[in-house]
Amino acid sequence: MPATLVAEWARQDVNNTTFLHNAPLPRFTPLPSPSSSDTKRYEALVIGAGPSGLMLTTLLTRYGLPSTSLLCIDSRPHQTLVGNADGINARTLEILGQLGLESRIRRDGTRFAESTVWTREESNPEVLVKKMTLPFDMAPARYEQLITLHQGHIESIFREDLKRYDGRDVQYGSKLVDMRIDEDGDKEFPVLATIERDGVREEMRTKYLVGADGAKSAVRGSMGVELEGDMTDELWGVIDLVVDSDFPDVRRQSSINTLPGKGGEIWVTGGVKGGFIVPRERLSNGDFLTRLYLDMTVKNEQENGVATARLAEHQRQTTKERRNQITEALILDRAAKLFRPFRFEVKKGTQVHWWAAFRISQSLTKSFTLKDSTSHPRVFIVGDACHSHSPRQGQGMNVSMQDSFNLAWKLAYSIFGIDASDGGSKLLDSYEEERLPNARNLIAFDKRMNQEGLAMKEKWAEMKQFVVSCGVEYGEGLCVSRAKFKKEQTWTKEDYLNGVILPGRRLLNCRVKRFADGNMRDIHDELGSEGRFSIMMLASYDFGVKDGRSTIIADDICSKVIKKFSPGLIQPIIVQPHLHPEFQWTDLPSSIRQEAEMSLHNASADTYKVYGVEHSGSHAGALIVVRPDGIVGMMAELEDTQQVVTFLKRMVRTVE
Ligand SMILES: Cc1cc2nc3c(=O)[nH]c(=O)nc-3n(C[C@H](O)[C@H](O)[C@H](O)COP(=O)(O)OP(=O)(O)OC[C@H]3O[C@@H](n4cnc5c(N)ncnc54)[C@H](O)[C@@H]3O)c2cc1C
Repeated sequence: MPATLVAEWARQDVNNTTFLHNAPLPRFTPLPSPSSSDTKRYEALVIGAGPSGLMLTTLLTRYGLPSTSLLCIDSRPHQTLVGNADGINARTLEILGQLGLESRIRRDGTRFAESTVWTREESNPEVLVKKMTLPFDMAPARYEQLITLHQGHIESIFREDLKRYDGRDVQYGSKLVDMRIDEDGDKEFPVLATIERDGVREEMRTKYLVGADGAKSAVRGSMGVELEGDMTDELWGVIDLVVDSDFPDVRRQSSINTLPGKGGEIWVTGGVKGGFIVPRERLSNGDFLTRLYLDMTVKNEQENGVATARLAEHQRQTTKERRNQITEALILDRAAKLFRPFRFEVKKGTQVHWWAAFRISQSLTKSFTLKDSTSHPRVFIVGDACHSHSPRQGQGMNVSMQDSFNLAWKLAYSIFGIDASDGGSKLLDSYEEERLPNARNLIAFDKRMNQEGLAMKEKWAEMKQFVVSCGVEYGEGLCVSRAKFKKEQTWTKEDYLNGVILPGRRLLNCRVKRFADGNMRDIHDELGSEGRFSIMMLASYDFGVKDGRSTIIADDICSKVIKKFSPGLIQPIIVQPHLHPEFQWTDLPSSIRQEAEMSLHNASADTYKVYGVEHSGSHAGALIVVRPDGIVGMMAELEDTQQVVTFLKRMVRTVE
């Protein structure tokens, strides 16, 4: 019995002039009726409007949750104005690119092109010398490797997008004070949240609550879980300023090491003892901002010749007490010492934009979800609420947004009833199954970067996988199938980073030429950001040939495979290496012409090579299922369309 689509609605463009990137996902569940009581009810309630909360709210909005069903609150009166995170890495840029939100960041931010490493001369510690200059080049990616731009810009970009889609904004000045699961009160909206606004408390109900409320998460507290791990004794200071300096590399990402002679062994930001510069964006008055991170642990005071009595006093104090004694003046004083004999001071006529002192913590929670009595996840935590790591690797904001990118489509599928009807809670469970090990790996990586004695070659290989998030890899699970594709081939982690397709990793972007109009396209733009799956067929030379193997399989995908699911939910993308000169569009089966007119592309033999797929021969070609978050879910031989259907059915509801 085919399932019926109970609601598909036209999207209201708020000012009728903006182009909207997304069509909403199909929906099988009815929109909730207005609550009969005074208690407001939402299908999803997002607590916190930092990078992770805004990414989630933006995606859920684009997938089709109307403002009557979705609310994002934040306890602050307004968005971030100064400080906090500032690095957007290659993978986050790709994700934002898929959403069409990357251009302002790329225009206004500062690109990391080169890194330098400086250290004190062993024979004469008064002399600061440059040990090396390195290209900042970690992994092949669609855009830049890393761009720095203030967190407030990122938040504005999301908020503007939200307003375009539904005229909505974050509800600032609203604080979650408590949250619990209360199924007896309302089975359909079992999460009961207490929100405080202007001193008045109000209860709200929701189907799903997401805690994106940062390191001191109230949601995490209400879930009864804690951040567990290491709170190190390391104290760091961070300062944003317009700098007046004659240090030659003040506009490059530069590490300055205090230990004489050590600089040459330490790459980029890994294991720095001293400080490092993060070049930042141009301000509206034409000045360029600089961020400086400084190691403020007492050890450095010792190295800098602090009086023995003061040192002993320092050692008696707790790390928290020592952190509270760090001031803007102390950071600037330490900075001046770090850079001497070069000058490093605040430009006259300007003021320090922001500074903070922090203790490095590397911790995560045991669980990212809270379940109801039927073991269905109802509460999730994302971002800093569930993990924290040292800012040295610039991960905080990136990992947080990537948590939300992983969760958003799973949440939307559950709310809209387009998840596998017999799948129970498995799709939602896969959020924690994928993101918790990823956070654990990152923390382990962070620790290894500071480990003495680890060979630099090993450190560099790891940095390439982690620093720009292009090496994120999910293991076998509901949404990743590693059923062996070609057993005889063995690839290394480096090969996968360079593009060889592996289920569980993101699909590397490539350029293709669209058959219909001859335009060059990025495959990432073809995947779209609409919460849909793609079946990407890397066809072989016989595509377009009547009764050719690739033509028959493409016909099968377009006429049968995608029809098993909601219309438009699974999109076919056909990539072929070559079309015969006598090829005629009208020779193709009608299903391909109808379903793939604008998604039939030509790719070079080099692209096939990058993806690790043969383009000719009896085993040429491959079927690749790409998930809504750009991760390859599975890969199969061309003939294995049934394997593709079986895999998709694990996550997506069928309609026949
Ligand atoms: C002071 C500070 C300095 C930082 N410096 C750096 C840095 O230099 N480099 C770097 O990479 N990262 C830095 N970070 C970390 C980086 O900002 C985070 O990793 C990133 O912002 C995580 O995003 P998030 O959305 O998970 O959390 P956050 O950005 O922390 O956002 C959480 C949001 O939740 C809101 N909130 C909290 N509690 C409640 C509640 N009960 N009810 C409603 N709303 C609530 C907060 O107001 C906030 O807007 C810093 C963080 C802080 C707080």
